[in-house]
Amino acid sequence: MITATHRHAQLIIDRQAIYDNVQNEIKRLKKGTDLFAVIKADAYGHGLLEVAKITKQAGAKGFCVALLDEALALRQAGFEEPILVLGVTDPDQTPIAANHHISVAAPSLAWLQQATPFLNKDAQTPLRIHYAIDSGMGRIGMRDISELQAAVKLVREQRDAFEVEGIFTHFATADDPNPAYFNKQVAKWQEILASLDEKPRYVHVSNSATSLWHAKCNGNMIRFGLAIYGLNPSGRAISSLPYPLKPAMSLTSELTFCKQIHAGDSVGYGATYTAKGDEWIGTVPIGYADGWRRDLQGFKVLVDGQYCEIVGRICMDQLMIKLPHEYPTGTTVVFIGRSGMHEITAQDVAEYEHTINYEVVSDFMPRLPRVYVGLENQQ
Ligand SMILES: *Cc1c(COP(=O)(O)O)cnc(C)c1O
Repeated sequence: MITATHRHAQLIIDRQAIYDNVQNEIKRLKKGTDLFAVIKADAYGHGLLEVAKITKQAGAKGFCVALLDEALALRQAGFEEPILVLGVTDPDQTPIAANHHISVAAPSLAWLQQATPFLNKDAQTPLRIHYAIDSGMGRIGMRDISELQAAVKLVREQRDAFEVEGIFTHFATADDPNPAYFNKQVAKWQEILASLDEKPRYVHVSNSATSLWHAKCNGNMIRFGLAIYGLNPSGRAISSLPYPLKPAMSLTSELTFCKQIHAGDSVGYGATYTAKGDEWIGTVPIGYADGWRRDLQGFKVLVDGQYCEIVGRICMDQLMIKLPHEYPTGTTVVFIGRSGMHEITAQDVAEYEHTINYEVVSDFMPRLPRVYVGLENQQ
């Protein structure tokens, strides 16, 4: 996909914020607990390689990604840290992971059985695996002790194919103020974990929410994702944080056009907005094909420290806003970030769209350039 560098619309990524969020979390961790930076989905839209570099500088000991391709991109860029693929890797592609020293989740006994012949044939080194335990997330993982025991037995018989590096589970409600389901998962996890006679190098359960609010559950590694980017995994449900999270992403553009319209004049496809009197309307070159969704019609942006409503339907590449008065083309328009006394956050956008901040930041398309600021000397 083409990145539009000749258009004044960009995601600005504050390296210092990412660095500080990671360091603040590392300071809270018990000695011997490693932070792995979760940088799947292009680092939640913030840029895979750049975020890998910053989080490593800040003390991350490894990386988690969702897909084998994301792990391979890190290896190709020269990162030698441990990398764990959290999703299900195709059994026939496990030799690729093994040969690049990429660790993968082992989601079931059947998966181990399916991967074994491929590894025996094509892997030059054993595949590092983390047993995935489904303690209640209902996504991937082994669900009972007997399956795990059978997996352990298979892996012990297949030492050339597998090397056990970790065991983990994932919580469904760590961001919920009500701990009932969380506690149920913890109990199930502990019961399954206790059935292992030998613990692997990494025992881990914590996403951002778990480490922020249930740190006593952390094993000796955490999978720290959303909070790296300065966003609260609970949205607004749990506002108390052990340290202030610093949002790393802003989205800004500028006016490309400004005009006055009059009573009865309409704006945009479907003519859904009609002026009641004289109004100044600005045009901004961002649209739904950038990931600024069409249902954000009626939401606000910031111009010169003032909230301005998005009027008319959002187009694929442009949208219109109502200005308090005339502004010259080139005037900055803030979609996410600060202007004057006000701030629009990814959380604000998420609430208007009835979704979560995770989706807002990871939805921005590659067409929008990522511009990195801060920590200038650490290029
Ligand atoms: C995405 C993911 C994480 C990171 O979650 P955050 O809420 O972003 O911290 C951790 N573990 C697994 C298994 C994941 O899929």
